[in-house]
Amino acid sequence: MSAPRIEDLIKALRQYRPVLLAMEAIGWFHMAGKARLEFLRGQGGEKSDYNEREWHKQETPPFAWDDLLKWANSLFPSHLPQTARPKSFAEFTEKHHGNDPGLLGLLQAAHGVVSGAEKNLPGSGNYLKQLIPHIWLSSPWGYPKRNLLADPPEILSHQGWKCLVDEIRRVLSAEKVFKDPSTRGAGDVDPSLDWRAWLDWRESAIGKDSFIRRAFLSTLAETRLPNNDVTLWDQSYVAAALFKSAVARALLGALLDPSFEKSFEKKRFKSTTQWYLLTVALGTDHYEARAIKISDWTGMQGAIEEFFRRVSELVEVNLAAGSLLYKDSAVAVFSFLGELDQPSPDTPEWITGLLGWITDQIENLAKAQKLEYPPFVGLSGPTRSLVPMVREWRRAKEAVSIPIHRPWDIPESESGPSQGHVCPVCRLRPNGDPTDKGKPCPVCLQRRHRRLDEWLRGYLDNNTIWFEEVADQNGRLALLTLSLDLEGWLNGERVDSLRTQAIPEWVRFNPLLDGQPNPIDRQKAYESLTDYIGKQLNAYNRSDPVLSNLQEGFKYESSWEPFFKKIVEDRAQAPSWDDLNDDQRAAWIAHQLFRKLPSPGRVYRFWREAEDFFHELLGKFRQLVARSSNPWRVQRLVLELEANGISRTDLELYNGRWRGKPLSLLHLPNSKSFLTTSNLARLLRPEEAEKALVGQRIELWMDDSQARFSATVVAVRRPDRDYARLGVYHPVIPLELSPLRFRLLVPLEAASECVDLAVSLWQERFSRVWDRLPLRVGVVGFPRSVAFQGVIEGARNLEEALQGGEESWTVKDVFPEKGFVALLLQREDGRLTQRVVPTLLPDGREDVFYPYVAVEDPKVRHPRDFRHPEGQVYRHVADLRLGDSIRVAPARALTFFMESTAERFEVPSPRYLEEWSRMREVWALLQRVAPSQAALQRLRSEMARLEADWSNPEGRLAASSELWRATLKALIAEVLEVRGGFLEALVEAALEGTLQWAMDWHMTALKEGA
Ligand SMILES: [Zn+2]
Repeated sequence: MSAPRIEDLIKALRQYRPVLLAMEAIGWFHMAGKARLEFLRGQGGEKSDYNEREWHKQETPPFAWDDLLKWANSLFPSHLPQTARPKSFAEFTEKHHGNDPGLLGLLQAAHGVVSGAEKNLPGSGNYLKQLIPHIWLSSPWGYPKRNLLADPPEILSHQGWKCLVDEIRRVLSAEKVFKDPSTRGAGDVDPSLDWRAWLDWRESAIGKDSFIRRAFLSTLAETRLPNNDVTLWDQSYVAAALFKSAVARALLGALLDPSFEKSFEKKRFKSTTQWYLLTVALGTDHYEARAIKISDWTGMQGAIEEFFRRVSELVEVNLAAGSLLYKDSAVAVFSFLGELDQPSPDTPEWITGLLGWITDQIENLAKAQKLEYPPFVGLSGPTRSLVPMVREWRRAKEAVSIPIHRPWDIPESESGPSQGHVCPVCRLRPNGDPTDKGKPCPVCLQRRHRRLDEWLRGYLDNNTIWFEEVADQNGRLALLTLSLDLEGWLNGERVDSLRTQAIPEWVRFNPLLDGQPNPIDRQKAYESLTDYIGKQLNAYNRSDPVLSNLQEGFKYESSWEPFFKKIVEDRAQAPSWDDLNDDQRAAWIAHQLFRKLPSPGRVYRFWREAEDFFHELLGKFRQLVARSSNPWRVQRLVLELEANGISRTDLELYNGRWRGKPLSLLHLPNSKSFLTTSNLARLLRPEEAEKALVGQRIELWMDDSQARFSATVVAVRRPDRDYARLGVYHPVIPLELSPLRFRLLVPLEAASECVDLAVSLWQERFSRVWDRLPLRVGVVGFPRSVAFQGVIEGARNLEEALQGGEESWTVKDVFPEKGFVALLLQREDGRLTQRVVPTLLPDGREDVFYPYVAVEDPKVRHPRDFRHPEGQVYRHVADLRLGDSIRVAPARALTFFMESTAERFEVPSPRYLEEWSRMREVWALLQRVAPSQAALQRLRSEMARLEADWSNPEGRLAASSELWRATLKALIAEVLEVRGGFLEALVEAALEGTLQWAMDWHMTALKEGA
C-alpha cells in the first residue's frame, strides 16, 4: 500500500477537530463524579449510596450526556463503525476503568496509564485508606496541604457541585457556540472557519482561571495513601490529553491501514496504546544574554511566549492531536498522536512525514515572531509514560545550545533597512542609521516598546517595569534567583526513594494470603520478597498468592515476560527482560511493586507544584517588598511641567533631580503630563503631600542624550482616567517564573527578608525530601548604575556556581521524637548540622511513604530498608543509626554584590542553605551587642587583615586551629566588648565564616549598621 499523503492526514485531523475536542472534554469530565462530598465521605468509611460513576443518573433531571453531545455524534467519521462508539456517552464515565474495544477502550487506556496503574493493590486497599477525620490532599512530596472534609474547598459544597454540573453542561453544549452543526454534514466542516472559536471554547473551559480547573485542583480522585498526592485535575487533564491523542490516531487509522476499521471495533487497545511526545524548544538563553536593557529581555520574552502560545494552538486546537504536558521558559512538550497496537521498531513513514510538516509550520510561527534563531522540533519514540520526557527535554536543550543549529534565514533582514550599523541587540540586522551605533534595528525597537505598552494599559498586575522604582533608599536592587532541583523527579530517578507501601506493613496487614500464612518474613522483608519472586520465575503461576495480592493484573497474564513489560519496562527506565538474569528480574519486580510510580499524572504534578511554589512566593514577596514606613514607596504621581526646549516625544523617558535625589519621568502621550517612574519615598517624606512638588524646579535630561532642561512643576495629581491603574505599584519585576527557575528583581533592602521567607517555606513544605529536592538561592545585589546585561551575566555565573553534585554526610546522632526524627549530621566540610524530618501522617500513623534517604551502606539491614535493582539502598529516617552515611544533594545559597559590570565573574563559592539562616542570626546578634558602627567596621577590617596575614600561598590558614580560635576570641572580645555566651557564639560564627559573611553582606551590600 502506498503511504498516505501528509496533506490528507492533516485534512482529516482538521475535519474532525470538533470530535477530537469533544473527546478531550469527555476526558476532562470522565471522573467529575469524584468532585463531590459524598464521594469523599464514602471513601472515608461512610456507607453511602452515592456512585460517582453514575452521578448523571442521580441528577434531577438526569444529566443528558447524549443530548448535549448530539452535535459531536453527528460529526463522527463514517469510517469508524457505529459499534466502535459506545451506545451512550455516559459509558465513558461509567466504564472508564474497564477494558473494552473501540473508542471506550482508548479512554480506558489513557485512564489506566495515568491513574489506574497505582490502584492495583487488591489486598492492601483497606489499611491505606484515609478515614473521614483525616482525608488529606498532600503535596507530591508528602506535605499535607489540606484536610478536605474539615476544611472543604468550594467545590465540595452543594453550591459548588451545582456550579460544576452547570459548567460541564455549558462546555459540552458547544453547538451553541457555533453554528448549528446538524445542518452540516461531517464532510463540510470548514476548518478555517471555526478554529479560533474552538480556541476560545477550550480556554473558557480549562484555561488558567477557569472554574473547572480550580475546582478539580482543589480535590482528589484517589484518597488512599500515598496516592492522595495527585489532584483530580492532574489525573483528568493528563488522561484527557492522552485520550485525545489516541482518538486522533484512530481517526487516521483508516487512512493509514485499510484493515484498521474492522479491527477497531473488536480489538482491545488498553494495554498496547502508546503515545508520541512532541517537543518544541527555543534557545531562550541566547536571547537573554544579548539583551542590553531589561526591556530588550522582557520584550523578547513576550515574543517567545507568543511563539509558544501559537505552537500550543496549532497542536491542541488547530490539529487537535495532543495537549501540553510540560512547559518551562524554553521547552514545551505535548502528547501527540500515538500507536494503538504494538508498533514496529522503526519510525513509520507517515510519522516522519507529519513531523516534517509540523516542523515547517512551527518554523513559520517562529518567523512570524521574527525570531533570530530557529526552534527545535523533536518527536520521541512511542511511550506509555512521561519518563522519557526528560530525555527529550535534554535533547532539545542540547540542540538549541547552538544558536543557529540548522539553516535559518533571519526574518526581516530582507524587508528592513539594509544599511547602518549592526543592531547592538540582535547583532544581526542593520539599524538603518549610519550615525548611531547604539540604536537598535526596527524589530528590536518594537520589542523594546512592547512591555511598556502592556504596562501602560495596566496589564501587569501592579508589578512595575522600572529599575528606578524597584531601587531602594540607597538606589540599589537585587536579582533573586531560586530553583528546585527538579530533573531527577521528572525523569523518575528520585521517585525511586518513595514507597506506595512498606513491605513489612503489607505483611502485617496481610497475614494470610488465600488462607495460608503470608510467606514473606517481616523482619527481612526486602530480601525475603526478592527471594520469593526469584523462585517463582521458573514457571508462571497466575494464582500465586503473593503476586496476585500485590498486583491485580498478575492473574490475567500467562507468562512472566508481558507482566514484566507492564510492571517494569513501561514504568521505569529499566533494562528489558532479555537483558537480565533471574536475580535482576526479581529485584526489578520487587522494586516496582512497592515504589511510587512516576506516572504521567504525578510527573505533571511535580512540575506544576514547583511552579506553584514559586507563584506562592511571588505573592508573598510582592507584599514584603511593598512594606515601608513611607506610603510614597508604592505610589506614582502625574506632574504637569512648564519647560523650555523640551521635545515632548510621546513616552520619552527623562531623568531628573530634585532635592538632590534622582527622579525619573515618562512623558505621557498627547499631553503636558509626566508620570513618575522612580521611588518617590526618596523624594517625599511620609507626612508630605504631593503639593510639595508644586512650583518646584526640576533639572531634566533625556535617557540617551546630553541635553539638559530646566522645568517647573505647575500641577500635580494622582494618575487618573486611562492611567488610573498605575497609581500604586509593587516594587518588583518578575523576570522568569518557570518550574525550573524563578528570577525577579526586588529592592536590595528587602532581599534578605525575601530569602528568609523562601528558606522557611521550603523547610516547611519539603522537609520529607530535603536531601533530594534542594532549594538553591542566589542574590546579586547591585546599584542602579550597573547595566542589566552585566547583572544577568552575574546571575548566570552565580546559578552555575550553585549547581553542584551530591555529597556524603554522616549521621552523628539520631533523636527520635514523637512525630519527627531530629538528625545531627556531619557535612563534607566537617561541620555539624541538624535536620528535623516529620515521620507521622496527620492522622497519627507512621509515614512509611516519603522519608527515606539513600545510604552509602550497600547492605539491607532494617525491615523497611530496600534496594534499587542497580544497588542503591534506601533507609527510613527513623531507622538511621550513628555512623550511617547518606547521599545528600545539598540546598545552597550564594550572595554577591556587584559594584560594577567588571565584577560579574567574581562570584564567591556557594554556602549551605542552613548557613544563610545562621548568618542572619549572627547579624541580629551583632546588631544587639556591637557598641557602634565604627566598632563593626573595625572588626571587619581587622578580621580581613588577620585572615590575609595568616594564610599560606594556597589560601589556607597556616595557624593551628587552637591558636586561630584564641586570636579571634581576643579580637572579638576587645573590639565588641562582649563576654560569655555571646562571645562564644560569635567566635563559633567567625570560625565557620558566617560572621564574616554577615558583615560583608549587611554592611557592604545593604549599607546597614548597628
Ligand atoms: Zn536588532
